[in-house]
Amino acid sequence: MLTLNTELAHIQGINKRLQDGLKKLGLITVRDLVLHLPHRYDDFSSKASIGELAVGQTATVHARVSKIEMRRSFRRNMAIIEAVLEDRTGSVRAVWFNQPYIMRSLPVGTVGNFAGKITLSQASLYMSNPVYEPAYTETKHTDGLVPIYPETKGITSRGIRYLMHPILLALKEVPECVPADVFKKLKLPSFLEALRVLHMPESLEAVEPAKKRVALEDIFLLQLTNLQAKMKLAQEPAHAVPWTDAERDALLAELPFTLTGSQRTSLDEILTDMRHPHPMNRLLQGDVGSGKTVVIAVTALLAARHGYQTAILAPTETLARQHYRTLEKIFNRIVNEWSLNFALMTSAECRASYGEGLETDLPKARVINRIADGHIKIVVGTHALIQKGVSFPRLALVAVDEQHRFGVEQRAALTKRAADAHPALPHFLSMSATPIPRTLSLTIFGDLDLSIIDELPSGRKPIITKIVASTDRPKAHAFMRQEIKKGRQAFVICPRIEESEDKDNAAAIPNAWNDVKAVMQEYEKLAKEIFPDLKVAMLHGKMKSVEKAKVMEDFAKNKTNILVATSVIEVGVDVPNAVIMAIEDADRFGLAQLYQFRGRVGRSEHQSACLLFTANKSAVSRERLKALTTAKNGFELAEKDLAMRGPGEFLGRTQTGIPDIAMNALNNMELVKTAREAAARVLKEDKDLQQNPHLKERLTAFRKAVHLE
Ligand code: ADP
Ligand code: MG
Repeated sequence: MLTLNTELAHIQGINKRLQDGLKKLGLITVRDLVLHLPHRYDDFSSKASIGELAVGQTATVHARVSKIEMRRSFRRNMAIIEAVLEDRTGSVRAVWFNQPYIMRSLPVGTVGNFAGKITLSQASLYMSNPVYEPAYTETKHTDGLVPIYPETKGITSRGIRYLMHPILLALKEVPECVPADVFKKLKLPSFLEALRVLHMPESLEAVEPAKKRVALEDIFLLQLTNLQAKMKLAQEPAHAVPWTDAERDALLAELPFTLTGSQRTSLDEILTDMRHPHPMNRLLQGDVGSGKTVVIAVTALLAARHGYQTAILAPTETLARQHYRTLEKIFNRIVNEWSLNFALMTSAECRASYGEGLETDLPKARVINRIADGHIKIVVGTHALIQKGVSFPRLALVAVDEQHRFGVEQRAALTKRAADAHPALPHFLSMSATPIPRTLSLTIFGDLDLSIIDELPSGRKPIITKIVASTDRPKAHAFMRQEIKKGRQAFVICPRIEESEDKDNAAAIPNAWNDVKAVMQEYEKLAKEIFPDLKVAMLHGKMKSVEKAKVMEDFAKNKTNILVATSVIEVGVDVPNAVIMAIEDADRFGLAQLYQFRGRVGRSEHQSACLLFTANKSAVSRERLKALTTAKNGFELAEKDLAMRGPGEFLGRTQTGIPDIAMNALNNMELVKTAREAAARVLKEDKDLQQNPHLKERLTAFRKAVHLE
C-alpha cells in the first residue's frame, strides 16, 4: 500500500532518470513529493473560443493542430516550433521554444487543449509556450487552476503534475500529527485534504487554508520539540542558590539609581529561577538602554556570595570590557566587603580584580588556575572563554549577552567542564536587545522562558530620528559641531572599512558597494576637512584589540569628540555623553541593526538625535527607514520588520531548516498559539509519545531536519 514513507524509487513508472531528477529536488519519499508545493497557480479556468481571444488573457482553447513546423533560431541555434491551432471560430498561432520533442507529440491533426497567455506579435495573436494536452488523455494540465512548481533541469512542472495526481489519489489515508479537534477548530482541512487542494485546487480560496494546514503540521512539531526540550531540562539538576532578600537589597542599595518596575520584575523572575535545583532557561529581552546589565550583575553577585561561579559571555571584546567595568564601578564597595573576585578574559586581555580592589594584569594561565580553583567567581569574556578550555568547578550561571541563539554545543562545552566536578547544569540566561516579536519568541525561541524589560529608565528623552538627504549634509555637520561645543559627543557609522582597496579588482566587488561610505575615507574627511579643530577617532574590526580598547576608552572619557566606526559598535556600547548617531548609507543596514545603532545614544538626560544618511531613493528602502523614525519602541519596530521582510529575513541568513511554508506562517499568532496549546496537551498525557508512535517518528525526523541553534 502506498504511504507517505514509500520511496519514490519503488513506485512503478518512475525510472532511473526521473529518480535522479527528483533527487536533485531533494525528493526521495512520497512525503517529500507531496510536500513539494507549487509556488503559484496558473488560472486556466476560462475555456475560450479562438475567435474571442484577447491580448493579455490566460485561456484554454480546445483546438486542432492544422500546421506545425520547427526551425532553428539564427543566433543561438534554439529550436523554435510554430503551430497553427484552429477551432470553429478561428485560428491562433502557438510558439514553443527549446522543446523539439513537441514535434513528435503534436502531429498535424492532433486535437486537444492548449492553455497559456495570449500575446500580440506582429499584429497577430499567439500563445507562447502553451501547456497542451491531447484530447485522449485525462485533462490535468489545461483545466482550471494549474499548479506551477519549483523546477530543476529535467523535471518540469508538467512532469511533477503527472507524478503527483495518481499518487495523491492513491493515498487513502494519511496519519495526522495534529489532533483532529485542533485543526477542525481552526476550520482547516485534514492533512491529506490539504495536500489534495494544494496540488489540485478547485478554487484559489481553498488554497490559503490548505497552506495553513500544512504549516500547522510543522509549527506543531516545532512546539513539541520546544516543550519536550523544556521538560527534559526541568529534570536536570542545577545549583540552587539560596540568596536572601537582605543580600539582594544590599546589592540594590549600591546602585546610583533605582531599578525600573520591569527591571525589578525581570530580576525577581530570574532570581526565583536561580533558587530552584533545576536549570533556568530564560531569555531576558529589553530594549536597548533598558538596563539589562545590572540585572545580570546582581544575579551573578548573589550567586558569588554563595560560592557559585558565573560566566558572562559577550559578543565583542569591547562589550566584555564594559561589563567588567560595570562590576568594578558600581559594585566596587560591596565586592570588597564580600571579598568577591572577578575577571575579564578575552583573547587579547586578561585581568582580575582581587578583594582589595586591586586590579592586576595577569598571565592568562594564572587566571585560568584561579577560576579552576573556584577563587574567581565571575568571569566576563568573549568566546575565547570557551575555546580556552577554562573549567569552572562551581558554575551556576551562564549569561550570554546580545546573542539570539547561543549554541547548545557551546553551552554544553562549558557545562561539561563544570560537570567534571559536579553533575549540575548551569542556569542559563540569554539577553537580547533585538526585540523578538511574540510569535517568534513562542516558536523559534519557544523552549525559553521570557522576561521582558519594556520601559526605559525615567528621564530619558525620545531620540529624534531624521532621514537626511545628501544635500543637507552641511546642515547635519553644523548640528554636530554645535552639540560637541556643548560638550556632547557623536558617532558616525559607515558600512565598510576601506574604499575598494584594490582598484584592479573592483569588478569582483559588488557594484553597489563601490560608492558606499568607508570608515577610513570618512575619517580622513571629517578629521581633516570638516572638523579639523575637533578630535576625531576611528574604530573598526581590523584594528588590534589593544588599539580598539584605547579608542573606546578615550571616547568613553570624552577625550575624543567624534567616533567614526563600522558596525563593531553595534551592540551594547554605553557612552551616555554621546548624543548624535549619524549613519552613512543607512539603507545598507537591516532595521534591527539600525535600531541597535540608534540605541547607542539617548542614554542620558540630554536630547539625542539619530541621523540617517541615504542616497537610495527606492520606495522600499525609504519605507524601511521611515519605520525607524515612527516606531514607538523596539517591539513595534520588530513587528513591522517582521511584516515587511518575513521571518526568514528577520532572523538573518541563518538556515533554520524550517520549511518556508511554516516559516511564513510563524507570523500567524492564532496558529502559533493553538499549536503550542495542542502540543502541551499531547505531552501532558503522553510525555514520551509512547502511545503515538507515528508522531514520535515524525518528530524525530523533524528534529533532524531542523536545526535551531
Ligand atoms: P542594555 O539593556 O542596552 O544592555 P545597559 O545595561 O547598558 O543597557 O544600561 C544602559 C545605561 O542605563 C547604563 O549606563 C546603566 O547604568 C543605566 N541604567 C540602568 N538601569 C537604570 C535605571 N533603572 N535608572 C537609571 N539608569 C539606569
Ligand atoms: Mg547591553
